Amino acid sequence: MTPYRALVYTLLFIGLINSCSKIVTVIRIEPDYPNIHPHLKDTIQEVNKLSKGCLGNLKYAGFMDFKAEFGKDNIAGMANWILPFFEPQININPDYWYKLNSTQKKLLIAHELYHAEKPYIGHINDRDDWGCAEHLMYYQMQSNWCDIYKFEQYVSQMGDCHD
Ligand SMILES: [Zn+2]
Repeated sequence: MTPYRALVYTLLFIGLINSCSKIVTVIRIEPDYPNIHPHLKDTIQEVNKLSKGCLGNLKYAGFMDFKAEFGKDNIAGMANWILPFFEPQININPDYWYKLNSTQKKLLIAHELYHAEKPYIGHINDRDDWGCAEHLMYYQMQSNWCDIYKFEQYVSQMGDCHD
């Protein structure tokens, strides 16, 4: 049997347009980005610092055309695991990435890293009285106002491996 590396995708996305939520598991051949993409590196390092080392310890992060892969244009990012050792990696939609501000970039990366490093958590969809997500693992991206208003809370959740 020819050895090859495959990916397990699960716990997709953040829906930017639709609010649909679903879990997709697909096995596919490893795509062509064996390292941390330079356009993602700074944000991953910032999140690693904000999380006091809890997040951002992975070796692979890249961009992916989710429309071409899955026929969906509302996926902002995705965590997946490379077989056979379930090495975590994240993939980001380049169509979104370059339109996000720096707070949104950090929260998107933190969200996907959290999936990658704690796949058993999944999404946490509680909202506060203002309609803002209580946890950075909310299933969708949200208003910039909420991102800023709740940022400190999300940062403390990034570092929850120390709790
Ligand atoms: Zn998610």
